[in-house]
Amino acid sequence: MRSLWLDDSTAIPTDPLGSEVEADDVVVGAGLAGLTTALLLARAGRRVAVLEARHVGAVTTGNTTGKVSLLQGTTLSSIRRHHGPEVVRSYVEANREGQQWLLRYCDDHGVAVQHESAFTYANRVSAVATVGEELETAREAGLGVTWHETLDELPFVTHGAVGLAGQAQLNAMDVLAALAADVRRHGGVIHEGVRVTGIRTDGERCEIQADVALVRAERVVLATGMPILDRSLHFATLQPTRSYCIALEGVADVPSGMYLSASTPSRSLRWAPRPDGTKVLVVGGSGHGVGRARSPQHHLQELRSWAQDHFPGSRETHAWSAQDYMSADQLPFAGPLANSRGQVFAATGFNKWGMTNA
Ligand SMILES: Cc1cc2nc3c(=O)[nH]c(=O)nc-3n(C[C@H](O)[C@H](O)[C@H](O)COP(=O)(O)OP(=O)(O)OC[C@H]3O[C@@H](n4cnc5c(N)ncnc54)[C@H](O)[C@@H]3O)c2cc1C
Repeated sequence: MRSLWLDDSTAIPTDPLGSEVEADDVVVGAGLAGLTTALLLARAGRRVAVLEARHVGAVTTGNTTGKVSLLQGTTLSSIRRHHGPEVVRSYVEANREGQQWLLRYCDDHGVAVQHESAFTYANRVSAVATVGEELETAREAGLGVTWHETLDELPFVTHGAVGLAGQAQLNAMDVLAALAADVRRHGGVIHEGVRVTGIRTDGERCEIQADVALVRAERVVLATGMPILDRSLHFATLQPTRSYCIALEGVADVPSGMYLSASTPSRSLRWAPRPDGTKVLVVGGSGHGVGRARSPQHHLQELRSWAQDHFPGSRETHAWSAQDYMSADQLPFAGPLANSRGQVFAATGFNKWGMTNA
């Protein structure tokens, strides 16, 4: 169960750990949210230490599908239903800024990006209205979306789709490798194998309790998926949701573009380049709330048999799964935690779109 991206990645250099660490800012978690935060802090002249329980990219970022898109399934219409059009506009603008930052960063640091159109399609007749609502909401927010009666690239029936040209896909581990090197170039340190278990704040310094070291800093950013401290009650407002992915080689006509179904069972498609110049098709979906599936294996098998039905003769090279955190209000959270004297911050609730909205 190792992802295509983790399998293709080479070792990312990090720093040996002493028994004590002093920093201006500590970032907990070395996924996309953590390393981006660490880099911005280090560029601003702060002494930054990143503490990672496993290794860089070990959890969600290393197991993503890696689409960087402003069209995000049916996210925009869902936000509109909860918050109205102004919040959708702000969400799109914030995502546009995040997307542009990341793509510029990739361009400047030699990280390969494929520019593709993104599509949200109706996988059943009953989903047509939902896709239409997404089209209208995206238009209202200023996105140049288009309607497609059919998606001829796909080897199965769809019932209409909304599309957005000029989006992107990438290999998340390539991005993390570039960010990690850049953090260290700017004087930051990255320590792997350090699990943070608690944080004490006194208004001036934070004492970060970790299993293998004593760490002190002025401020701490938790970029751990679900924040590891309970004090902001995020455990009550975030739902962990797990999805499955497989990579297929030998697909006769690998569709260009990035696709996501509008309703269950969710299906996500994108292609990815391999080091030998060939392409694989990444198929994702069959998600469920964590702890709510009788058999995770059953979900993976369902995805496999769907893929074999529609891409016969292909061979599976990788299979993996990962979880991300869905926020009850449909919006990501980035800010200070309650009861932390303004010294502890968190970034979470990316709703499976953290490659773009983190
Ligand atoms: C299957 C799947 C497909 C996805 N596809 C897309 C996509 O196509 N496009 C998109 O925009 N988004 C996508 N997402 C979402 C996106 O990948 C995530 O939102 C993003 O990677 C989250 O990054 P992160 O840095 O918050 O979390 P992570 O990458 O999980 O990083 C958190 C890190 O914190 C570490 N950690 C946790 N606890 C501790 C502790 N106590 N001490 C120290 N370290 C700790 C973990 O080991 C981990 O490395 C997808 C998500 C999933 C699950």
